[in-house]
Amino acid sequence: MLAEQQTEEQITKTVLKGLTLKELKDFFTVADEKRFRGEQVFHWLYGHMVENFDDMANVPKYLRRKLNAYCEIMTLSNLTSEMSPRTGTKKYIFQTQDNHKVEAVVIPDPKRTTLCISTQVGCPLDCQFCATGLMGYKRNLSPGEIFDQYLLAAKDYNPRSEITNIVYMGMGEPLLNFTNTLKSLQIFAEDKTKGISLRKITVSTAGIAPKIIELADSGLRVKIALSLHSCFEETRSKLMPINKKYSLTDNLEAVRYYAKQTGTRITFEYILLKDINDRQDDLNALIRLCKSLPCKLNVIPYNSIHHMNPKGFAAELRPTTKIKLDEFVNKLRENEVTVTVRYTQGEDIAAACGQLAYKLENPDDLL
Ligand code: SAH
Repeated sequence: MLAEQQTEEQITKTVLKGLTLKELKDFFTVADEKRFRGEQVFHWLYGHMVENFDDMANVPKYLRRKLNAYCEIMTLSNLTSEMSPRTGTKKYIFQTQDNHKVEAVVIPDPKRTTLCISTQVGCPLDCQFCATGLMGYKRNLSPGEIFDQYLLAAKDYNPRSEITNIVYMGMGEPLLNFTNTLKSLQIFAEDKTKGISLRKITVSTAGIAPKIIELADSGLRVKIALSLHSCFEETRSKLMPINKKYSLTDNLEAVRYYAKQTGTRITFEYILLKDINDRQDDLNALIRLCKSLPCKLNVIPYNSIHHMNPKGFAAELRPTTKIKLDEFVNKLRENEVTVTVRYTQGEDIAAACGQLAYKLENPDDLL
């Protein structure tokens, strides 16, 4: 397998969790073992969620010994979790081996149970309404660390109600961690035991146009959500500085291509912000846009991040009132736009959209 003369202390162990089926098969082939061992190990890692090689019953003993010596499985450990008694929403904080913290949230509703996972520690984007941006960017998560959020959350939550949908909407920008995000999706696609097909997975992006095109061409038929938040370049650039690099025009072209290539409907996410994107011309532009491609609109009431002490423009943001929000949504519906309103779940445990990171800044609150 690996150089036998090396002692266990000298070698850096190969992390197997996070390898796709093909990568695992290649790994065993290169190691002069049978290729099908890759399939067996894949099954144990992701299907049975085993945490050590000795539990891999159909892997021969000599091979388990080698795996123990040269490889490892685990990526994340379960640091803490908190459940909202009101909604059943449960937030998990996992710890990476280098002591970073990663958040994931399970959101139950009568029709589905959705898990929201993170792709980066922190976020390099500076979206003015989002708490994660304020904690800065630490690093990309590996494919194993992304998939492990699902394994650990499922192990804990599934007895209560089975996770049916996954959204890549936690901390970070998935398309700026493109390779690892793609690999984690590949694992969902390859693992047939979970019943989570790619159709049940949504990748949410602030809009990295060339990567949206690349994802469309990847053959992985996940759903995509574009965080829109304004139909006007200038306002959008103020809210989301990344818009100066990848303009709304380019992103809309990219999602049109995505819809065509994959045959899926695009989701637009739209946080309603008082006097910023909730005026009549915003409504008109939104109706025009939504009528021009197969899509649905997800209207999100703004969850305040004042506890993070935002500065400048970020400090001025306010939610649209409930009455105005209802009016806005009704007008969209009258114009035959498919709209859902994502009423906040998990605010009481700081697990709502854009709030991930708050408690991480105050770790003492958790323990
Ligand atoms: N970077 C990706 C995924 C993370 S954000 C993206 O931008 O899509 C996931 C969703 O939460 C996005 O639609 C984002 O705009 C929304 N969000 C962020 N902060 C929020 C807040 N304070 N209130 C409500 N929604 C927020």
